[in-house]
Amino acid sequence: MLMFESEEERNKLIDKWKSLIINNCNMCNGTGYINTKPCTCFYKAKKSVEKEVSNIPLAAFEYNTPLKVDYNFDTYFNFIFSNIYKTKNLYLQGLSYSINTEVIGYIADNIIGVEHKITHKYYSIYYDIYENLIQLSLRSNIDKDARIKLNDIIQKPNVLIIDGLGLESGLNSQTMHNAKLLQLILKERMNRVKSTILCSSLTINNIQNIYNKEIVDFIVNYFDIIKPRG
Ligand SMILES: [Zn+2]
Repeated sequence: MLMFESEEERNKLIDKWKSLIINNCNMCNGTGYINTKPCTCFYKAKKSVEKEVSNIPLAAFEYNTPLKVDYNFDTYFNFIFSNIYKTKNLYLQGLSYSINTEVIGYIADNIIGVEHKITHKYYSIYYDIYENLIQLSLRSNIDKDARIKLNDIIQKPNVLIIDGLGLESGLNSQTMHNAKLLQLILKERMNRVKSTILCSSLTINNIQNIYNKEIVDFIVNYFDIIKPRG
């Protein structure tokens, strides 16, 4: 379940949320269980651990509904929790920073701790900005840990959120590399039937100017494009 932390870090996280949530629960007297069944505080603590591991900014979880976008996210949740061999991807286009953050928080909150209807597994979700993935890929030629981490991020999470697309540094000198990495990530995840969410303040046409037409065609064909309402 915890993808990117060492065993030691994982236990530290679990202990932290245990002491914050379970130890202070009056319903189960701080044990986490009521008659051998997990108390609601147990699930709350578990969800908090997973939220932290997802790398999503914790402020994102303080979202307001309704969200100011022209999309019904129930369609998305229904799809990813009802299918095994099909996936759905989202491209959040031209949203302001605050709306983008709210949408990410809302999506993550509706995925973390929810059981898949068919497989009965819980979905993992991971967030990163594209700049970080590029830095990892540049380091991965000489740094084995960077290579493993990048592969984990691309291959493991059921839902991967890549934020800040098209805003990375060194764009002019590295465009080819950045475009190729993006293509690799999107295709690799499609092959593994895993959902990707791209976030960019840029429109799809601007993306074509930065990367290439192939990427834009791929996004248009395989992604639901979500815009601000109005
Ligand atoms: Zn409790």
